[in-house]
Amino acid sequence: MVYNDWRQSGLLRCILCGGGAEPRFGVCEGCARDLLLIETACRTCAMPLPPAPAGRSRQCPSCLSRPPACTATRCAWHYGFPVSQLIQHFKYEGDLAAGHSLATLAAETLADMAGSLDLLIPIPLHWRRYWQRGFNQAQLVAETLGNAWQLPVLTRGLRKCHASERQQSLDKKQRLRNLSGSFAVRAAVEGRRVGLVDDVITTGATMEAAAGALLEAGAAQISAIALARTP
Ligand SMILES: [Zn+2]
Ligand SMILES: [Zn+2]
Repeated sequence: MVYNDWRQSGLLRCILCGGGAEPRFGVCEGCARDLLLIETACRTCAMPLPPAPAGRSRQCPSCLSRPPACTATRCAWHYGFPVSQLIQHFKYEGDLAAGHSLATLAAETLADMAGSLDLLIPIPLHWRRYWQRGFNQAQLVAETLGNAWQLPVLTRGLRKCHASERQQSLDKKQRLRNLSGSFAVRAAVEGRRVGLVDDVITTGATMEAAAGALLEAGAAQISAIALARTP
């Protein structure tokens, strides 16, 4: 794989294959087609579902039996190669060009969401992790979406109050308990339709905890948006 900053280098090359005559947003047409789009998914949690008859909006059994705080969730891609690799480079190696490319493509893929939102808020990092990483990947995604959709982005709308323990080994219920009370709202969100933005949705527990805090603060409706969804 070849990684280059397609915005700064005069020579425009695809960040995935290194080729491509006219890459759009850093990815050539062929590679953009290879990214695994989520075609049909639960409208509430974005869990991929088998295709349904046209015009029927679907919900997964878990959302039907217990509606989550987020009324809608949209992710552009399945968390699989090469999206997973681009996100890892973006998040852990500071490859901001990869993050910007994915966010710009996602802004196009999910453009129909823009009309149902008043503002965007990125999932914050705890200051200690922010300090280690030097940037918040969710903020970069939110800013790219906000720019494309002409929506205000409240980068400090939420604050992470305490560093939550590592989530990887926990199931959703444990994650929710781990996260409860961990977000504080620092913006006026009364009556607003908020788009909560993260890079990847895994169990949805982070989104649920943040959405709960925003609803308590008076937000009218919360939609969760991410680049990718793990199965
Ligand atoms: Zn390519
Ligand atoms: Zn669902």
